Parts: sequence; structure tokens; C-alpha cells
Amino acid sequence: MIHPDTKVRTVSEAIGNGVFATALIPQGTIVVVRDRFDTSLTIEEFQQLPALLKNALETYLYHDCDGKLILSWDHARLMNHSCASNTMLTAYGFEIAVRDIQPGEEMTTEYGLLNIQEPYQIHCKCPGCREHLRRDDIDQHGERWDALVRASMQLIAEQEQPLMALLDSRTKQRIMDFQCDNALYCSVHSLKWRVAL
Ligand SMILES: [Zn+2]
Repeated sequence: MIHPDTKVRTVSEAIGNGVFATALIPQGTIVVVRDRFDTSLTIEEFQQLPALLKNALETYLYHDCDGKLILSWDHARLMNHSCASNTMLTAYGFEIAVRDIQPGEEMTTEYGLLNIQEPYQIHCKCPGCREHLRRDDIDQHGERWDALVRASMQLIAEQEQPLMALLDSRTKQRIMDFQCDNALYCSVHSLKWRVAL
């Protein structure tokens, strides 16, 4: 589920819809939590769907570290990519704001953490745009992303966290462990789907 202070708006005719903050969302705020209403499909289950449904769903699905295809049930699935995104997926089952997001600002995420399997052209035109998403993006950029996520997770206790109620006790414990000892941080590298060859 996505943070309540968000809404869907058209970004542009070329890009389509995106998600925007309706209030200040400070760095360290948990912005999306994977919950039990998100759909999880094996690749086989996905392949067996009618083509019409497969084509419609494809844009919104991502692979988790087990290779399962995940579909968020709410407008979390409409978040666009930016190579300088203001939110990022973590290895804790949630996404976090990695800088302050101003009211009216588009919320973007890093698709490089979503196990894109085929090189995928992107059009975000952000400064230093990578122009393509690649399967090994986590290997290439994981260290930089970890630095952003780690710094943001250190702010969790300081921010209002409306989505905290959705976290299971194990995740809450992992956050507390990290707060007690930052060396226990779990890297975004563990989000990578290690496809068996
Ligand atoms: Zn870009």
C-alpha cells in the first residue's frame, strides 16, 4: 500500500500518469509497503494468462528476489522511474523516501531494483540519465543506492510513519536491529533475482 498523502495525476501525454505527493513527505518516510493484497504470480502462472490480460499487466509487474511477479493493488504500481528517484525499494519489503518530497512533486522510484529482465529504454531525461535499464543495474549502482537507503533508514524514527501499522513484527524487529547497529543493514543487492542458469 502506498502512503496516504499521494494521488495520481497525468505527467504528460508522452509519459501518461504518475504519482504525486499531496503533502511534504520527508526523507526517511516509508512510502510503500508490500501487503497481502498485492498479487504474487509465478512466471508459469503469468504465462498461462490470456494474452489480453498479460499485455495489460506487463507494464505494472516487477520481479522480487525469488523471481515472482508482483502487482501492487493500489496506485503504487503507477510510480514512474527516475535515475535520480526520490524513493527507493529496500530489502525490508518497503520503499522509503530518500530525500524530502515536496507537496505537488512527482514521486519516482528506481526501476533498476525491480529485476527488469530485458534491457528497457527509459525516457526520464534526468541529469545523468542511464537511458536504459539493465539486468545488472543493481550490481553497477547498488553501492550508491545503499548509501541513500541507509541514510534514509536512519531517519525512520524521526518521521511520522502512517504505514508502520502495515509492517509485520519481523520487519519491525529488523528495523530496530538496524537502528541499534547500522552494521546490520541489509543491502539492496539482496533484492536481485539470481536466475538459475
Ligand atoms: Zn533517467
